[in-house]
Amino acid sequence: MPANSLLDPAPFTLSLHGLRVLLVGGDLAAADFLLRQGALLHVVNPAPDAGTLALAAGDRLRLDRRAFGPGDLDGVRLCVAAPGPAQAAAAARGIMVGALPAAQHRTGRAVLVGAGPGDAGLLTVRAVEAIRDADVVMYDKLIGPEVLALIRPGARRIDVGKRCGRHAMAQSAINALIVRHAQAGRHVVRLKGGDPFVFGRGGEELESLRAAGVPTEVVPGITAALAAAARLGIPLTHRGASRSLHLITAHGSDDRLPEHDWTALARAGGTLAVYMGVRTLPLLAARLLAAGMAPDTPAIAVENATLAHERRMPGTLAGIADAVAAAGLDGPTLVLIGAVVAMADAGAGAASVVDDLAA
Ligand code: SAH
Repeated sequence: MPANSLLDPAPFTLSLHGLRVLLVGGDLAAADFLLRQGALLHVVNPAPDAGTLALAAGDRLRLDRRAFGPGDLDGVRLCVAAPGPAQAAAAARGIMVGALPAAQHRTGRAVLVGAGPGDAGLLTVRAVEAIRDADVVMYDKLIGPEVLALIRPGARRIDVGKRCGRHAMAQSAINALIVRHAQAGRHVVRLKGGDPFVFGRGGEELESLRAAGVPTEVVPGITAALAAAARLGIPLTHRGASRSLHLITAHGSDDRLPEHDWTALARAGGTLAVYMGVRTLPLLAARLLAAGMAPDTPAIAVENATLAHERRMPGTLAGIADAVAAAGLDGPTLVLIGAVVAMADAGAGAASVVDDLAA
């Protein structure tokens, strides 16, 4: 991936090695960060969080469970505090100041963030901001390591990962967990592959957040269909070739192919983008053929679109299911069907095009 200054780590780190640092308030994230820089840490906090208590119990820092007093600044080189008396006193004494966000007064909130198809370069600026600001990040299996690397040290990461068939955490439990963390005053980011509202069950999360009265923001993400098309150079609604784009799921709530209006889809003559389609692809193709779609309609399956291990299976409506089965695609796979697929530039995008299996 090309360098992207927005996503790069800071150009240098500050060493606090052996320096006496006072942290007024704050939380595990702040304490952990200062310890990592080598600080000799003294925390003054009348209501420390469990993480800070654990660090104190492990003798990683000295903790006084009380309010700040001016004497706390004696011998201190850096004072980290939210805006207020401690910050002002430190500045007045010429002590270096680190500004905490007004974390103690943060009201909890939730952001449903679309993480895009995997390549961190396809995150929105807003998504990056929200991830960096989060106290808690709850994420799915489809979220890649580059995206997770944006989570600040000390923030809580919760893998609620679910892949078809293996539900790590029930949706209702996820909904409840987001609400619980937000109601505890935390900034919760719910990171979801692609766009939160395209087959992502973001709607259910939004409903439960609304019901609980938690302020919620939704950050759109690049959905798999758009990402795959861009990678392949397929203009989804190319003038004269396709007048509509249909995002359909091939995976119903009962694990079977949903009963779409196949005749209407075939007749529309637009581009079909099939999500969660690997297992039911043979039946889906049969339904479209039966509904009158031409067997030689171009089709392509893209697994792990935008990631380094992206794979592509080009074919036709009649042959795509066999090609996908033969290749054994088992990662997230999107299937595009329609005349515009003929415009795919198989060599576009990834350097690591692996479509030899289809040959
Ligand atoms: N909210 C997601 C979709 C979640 S459903 C989005 O907007 O993209 C999961 C399905 O999305 C997968 O089964 C697959 O069909 C598709 N998908 C997600 N990421 C993908 C990727 N990188 N490459 C190909 N398909 C992907």
